[in-house]
Amino acid sequence: MIKTDALIIGAGPTGLFTAHQLKLIGLNCEIVDNLDKIGGQCIELYPDKPIYDIPAIPECTGEELTNNLIEQLKPFNIKFHLSERVDELKKNNSNWEIKTNKGTKFSTPNVIIAGGVGSFEPRKFNLKECQKYENNSVLYSVKDKTVFKGKTVSIFGGGDSAVDWAIELSKDSKVNLIHRRDEFRGAQLNVNKVHDLNKSGKIKLFTKYQLKTVNGKDNLENIEIESDDKEIKKLDTDYILGFFGLIMQLGPIADWGLNIDKKTIPVDTEKFETNQKGIYAVGDICNYPGKLKLILSGFHEGALAARACFKLARPDEKYRFEFTTSSKTIKNRLGIKE
Ligand SMILES: Cc1cc2nc3c(=O)[nH]c(=O)nc-3n(C[C@H](O)[C@H](O)[C@H](O)COP(=O)(O)OP(=O)(O)OC[C@H]3O[C@@H](n4cnc5c(N)ncnc54)[C@H](O)[C@@H]3O)c2cc1C
Repeated sequence: MIKTDALIIGAGPTGLFTAHQLKLIGLNCEIVDNLDKIGGQCIELYPDKPIYDIPAIPECTGEELTNNLIEQLKPFNIKFHLSERVDELKKNNSNWEIKTNKGTKFSTPNVIIAGGVGSFEPRKFNLKECQKYENNSVLYSVKDKTVFKGKTVSIFGGGDSAVDWAIELSKDSKVNLIHRRDEFRGAQLNVNKVHDLNKSGKIKLFTKYQLKTVNGKDNLENIEIESDDKEIKKLDTDYILGFFGLIMQLGPIADWGLNIDKKTIPVDTEKFETNQKGIYAVGDICNYPGKLKLILSGFHEGALAARACFKLARPDEKYRFEFTTSSKTIKNRLGIKE
């Protein structure tokens, strides 16, 4: 059981800046995110798009903003739990106990939900039989590419992920790339490369095909794919990888006994506390009169929620407001020597 002053759910811009605010006032925190990377919507949905309304930054991309937020957190050595979804949250005396889908457990007086529009989940194969092999031979992301070495991998999808992984894995694996259309949406340079690799026999390309059946015992052995003209092909395969994009779901957050209004969590605007003491909601997921779903609003909300956490984490101490420019304590926390 990990004990911490505050647990942040969501590593989007709001969760990241909230962590900064908690650490500045001397509280510990850890961050859990279902994605395999830090940055929330900024990194998942628009890493290359310029943002023009971050105060004092005239222009930066989603990726640049994320990198700057990570840089700002560097002095604090914060522990991130990525690719983990917070599933359970229940009260145990004065603390909250939290459990992730990977079994990691936390105990904390403060939970800050910075869950945006909910957790990003991969869009999965419609075929029910695929569930039997999920996380084993049927995968929706690549955590460790070495597992595919010398194996046959059937990749489904037509976007950048499918195209890029087909190219990458074709170096050490037999690769089938299957897409339900003729045209790929990936970067043209890489799409051309896939066609070249198909010509040289390094990748077997099947367009206008979809998954029809999966066969095997404990592990996947072969699959059948069906074309638009109902032609069926049987392919021996060890793994299938599906890259169909992400869907956003409020997911388990809806089951934690919190008031929910139109997929958002109502909060007060003093502490950003929910209807449960010690649970706060900040960023896109929170809701109050006048709420703007903007990054700058999330920063303000996180700063106030962090101060509210102090009372429960340090009941015997008094929170003292200090400026970063003049506080020696804060400079110490930042590792700044004068
Ligand atoms: C195309 C586009 C352009 C935009 N342009 C701008 C702009 O120009 N300016 C601006 O201010 N805003 C812009 N926005 C909005 C901005 O991106 C959001 O306001 C911001 O990302 C909200 O940050 P957040 O941290 O609250 O949530 P998010 O960025 O959504 O992050 C939430 C994180 O929580 C995780 N999560 C949720 N539930 C769980 C769970 N149970 N367990 C673990 N993890 C969980 C999710 O995986 C996600 O990573 C834009 C949005 C889009 C889509």
